[in-house]
Amino acid sequence: MNAHVANTIEYVKKTHAGQPVFVQAVDEMLSSISPVLDAHPEYEKADLLKRMVEPERMFTFRVCWLDDHGNWQTNRGWRVQFNGAIGPYKGGLRFQKNVNEDIIKFLGFEQTYKNCLTGLPMGGGKGGSDFDPAGKSDGEVMRFCQSYMTALYRYIGPDIDVPAGDMGVGGREIGYLFGQYRRLKGVWENGVLTGKGLASGGSLIRPEATGYGAVYYLQEVLAHENDTIEGKRLAISGYGNVAWGIMKKASQLGAKVTYFAGPDGYIHDPDGVTGEKLDYILEMRAKDPLHCKPYAEKYGVEFVPGAKCWGVKDVDVYMPAATQNDVAMESAEKIAASGVKYYIEVANMPTTNDALNYLRSQKHMVVAPSKAVNAGGVGVSGLEMSQNSERLVWTAEEVDAQLHRMMKNIHRISMEAAEEYGLGYDLVSGANIASFKKVAEAMYEQGIF
Ligand code: GLU
Repeated sequence: MNAHVANTIEYVKKTHAGQPVFVQAVDEMLSSISPVLDAHPEYEKADLLKRMVEPERMFTFRVCWLDDHGNWQTNRGWRVQFNGAIGPYKGGLRFQKNVNEDIIKFLGFEQTYKNCLTGLPMGGGKGGSDFDPAGKSDGEVMRFCQSYMTALYRYIGPDIDVPAGDMGVGGREIGYLFGQYRRLKGVWENGVLTGKGLASGGSLIRPEATGYGAVYYLQEVLAHENDTIEGKRLAISGYGNVAWGIMKKASQLGAKVTYFAGPDGYIHDPDGVTGEKLDYILEMRAKDPLHCKPYAEKYGVEFVPGAKCWGVKDVDVYMPAATQNDVAMESAEKIAASGVKYYIEVANMPTTNDALNYLRSQKHMVVAPSKAVNAGGVGVSGLEMSQNSERLVWTAEEVDAQLHRMMKNIHRISMEAAEEYGLGYDLVSGANIASFKKVAEAMYEQGIF
């Protein structure tokens, strides 16, 4: 490994001992980029890596709101503006009980390189709160979102920083956040947020984009292996927005999701999640995002409580689409032993680093990294920003066609970057190298900053 890269990883480990997930994300990314540093000694002189692992700035703030019983509640809020070298900071907001500074920083770091892969001018940012939306009324969610935006509105804008959704933040929350931004600023700047409802200037296909993009990327991988998507059986984790997009696009293309998992266990539906079952998934999630068992009861299929579906043999593709570190070493060993060829990460950093390296070392497997596979979501957010800027509305077909092109391109540039450094078909290194090179080049040409 290049000495500057190794020293930077050690430096981050030492200085961020309390932030294990951020350290993991940095380690995963930097471990791939030695050949670029070897070719560009000037980057070391410019202290580029140390600058890349430090956010440009990060805000932390309190978010106070009144619950339905008239009690004051206080939550913690964050926004990191990680890297603005190639465009306005861009990235979602995560509202979830366990959110902390570590998680926001890991997500903001990943976002920088993911956004770069889309080819659109977007820097990396992320935000969130430890607010738990589960069981909250609409009124409570609205008051929370209004308070959150009151704390943040001075620091964001269509050319500054553009938040969007992530776990716990969907169309409803974005609507309340945008309403409060408009009220406070008194301007029509709807490019300040993406993932808006259609009536407020949202983009068609945005809710489906991450899942659709992941399946388009999978198609590229399959084509590389002289294979096709028809008849493929997918085992995924999650049944949220992203997982739902995968289910829908897979069924449109003649494949099917036969396993999916929630926090309570996993479902095995050999006929696949298709047709009206897709609508039921939405209904079930809206009622209770923590239990997928009702699906098994409704459709008379198998539910395995308290377990993950990693290691099942009667599938062709694994796609972890729930949350970070879903697949650790124990699951990775089962996945490798199952003989399944394709491991396509979807959620942000769903695999621990040792598990990911283990899977990558399996000769019979193809592994694809989340920062490439899930980039279609933020990619269509970028297209929403374009539509808002030009005050036009694109058709679903136009947006979908652009998304499809984007995913093909991400696969191609990752493959080419790996080939350029003699790494073969290594999509993980390729995505890291391709995105690092562009962000590094922009930072270098902008001087010390
Ligand atoms: N939260 C999504 C992600 O992880 C989307 C971000 C966005 O659309 O800005 O990429």
